[in-house]
Amino acid sequence: MTDPAPKWKPKTVAAQMAGALEPVTGGVVPPVHVATTFIRDPDNQYRSGFSYGRPDNATVRQTEAVIAALEGGGEALLFGSGMAAATTVVLALDPGAHVVAPREIYWGFRNWLNGAVRFGYRVDLVDMSDLAQVKRAVTPETRLVWIETPSNPLWGMTDIAAVAEIAHAAGARLAIDSTAATPVLTQPLGLGADIVMHSATKYLNGHSDVVAGALVAAQSGELWQRIARVRSLHGAILGPFEAWLLMRGLRTLYPRVKAQSDAAALLATMLSRHAAVAEVLYPGLANHPGHDIAARQMTGGFGGMLSIRVAGGEAAAIAAAARVKLWRRATSLGSVESLIEHRASVEGPDSPCPPDLVRLSVGLEDPEDLYADLDQALRG
Ligand code: PLP
Repeated sequence: MTDPAPKWKPKTVAAQMAGALEPVTGGVVPPVHVATTFIRDPDNQYRSGFSYGRPDNATVRQTEAVIAALEGGGEALLFGSGMAAATTVVLALDPGAHVVAPREIYWGFRNWLNGAVRFGYRVDLVDMSDLAQVKRAVTPETRLVWIETPSNPLWGMTDIAAVAEIAHAAGARLAIDSTAATPVLTQPLGLGADIVMHSATKYLNGHSDVVAGALVAAQSGELWQRIARVRSLHGAILGPFEAWLLMRGLRTLYPRVKAQSDAAALLATMLSRHAAVAEVLYPGLANHPGHDIAARQMTGGFGGMLSIRVAGGEAAAIAAAARVKLWRRATSLGSVESLIEHRASVEGPDSPCPPDLVRLSVGLEDPEDLYADLDQALRG
């Protein structure tokens, strides 16, 4: 691997994999490093920096270097899933630590946080758009404030800089799930976040063929070292083949996200005029409650995710999702193919997701085809 030239823009870092090459043959694509164990030096050291595959792997490191650079961070760690990355941040805190997290958040992590009391953590879920509520919830005992913006699946916005200030004033760290924003549209470390998390299963990989998670920090520190230790001890590292595929996906991250974001903005405008749509939830629309925050902290677009509330209610929403022919009726998001899902069916009764909501993940198809398919599905 060659060192990335410091002047490279993030789009260049992604396309060139931060300069990764194959050193033996000069191949322009790096190999997959599959070895799980490594020869010791004669004097008993491991000077290569690698001793065993559970704490570390060279392909994983190369992909981590790209993701760290895209987020403007100094450190990155890859995990076997987004959930493994998110839960590791909490598990790296002392037992009994107080955590403040949003009510509107990826449902799987909310459910895990609600159960984290079993591990001795105290968790308060708040409305992150209400800064007074956040201030009341964060106390000197709070060790971690978690946010997710735009939040899945309502696409609510949180003011990263304002919450960072509240967290830091209390001596807590701020971690953010930036899966929907991607490093292309938001740079949370520059806005005061301490740790950025991604379900790399989504946009970072972008092809629905890798489950992965990522954490990025501006620099190492006590919490970061604990996180690396938990990853190693729990065996939560990403496998080398997945890391390699993730790196390949990252090469096209910038053009993918730009096209998906542009298409989502177009569809949001068209759908907000559709007779069968009661409401469009998309931070790029001027009437979205978080639009001002989104306009301030997102650059170059508002993302490829939106949700619609179907005028006919829950049954009409489920029926519309069943009638699509081009959109794929499947869970997940951020891939090249467009996905549609009735979220309340997935999230269950504890979720703030309304029953008439259908989530749309916009892919790379022609937006005219995407709209025509939704139109026929909504008309019935
Ligand atoms: N965060 C968000 C915003 C997600 O949408 C998801 C998955 O859908 C996750 C985290 C969890 O990621 P993974 O499925 O890679 O564990």
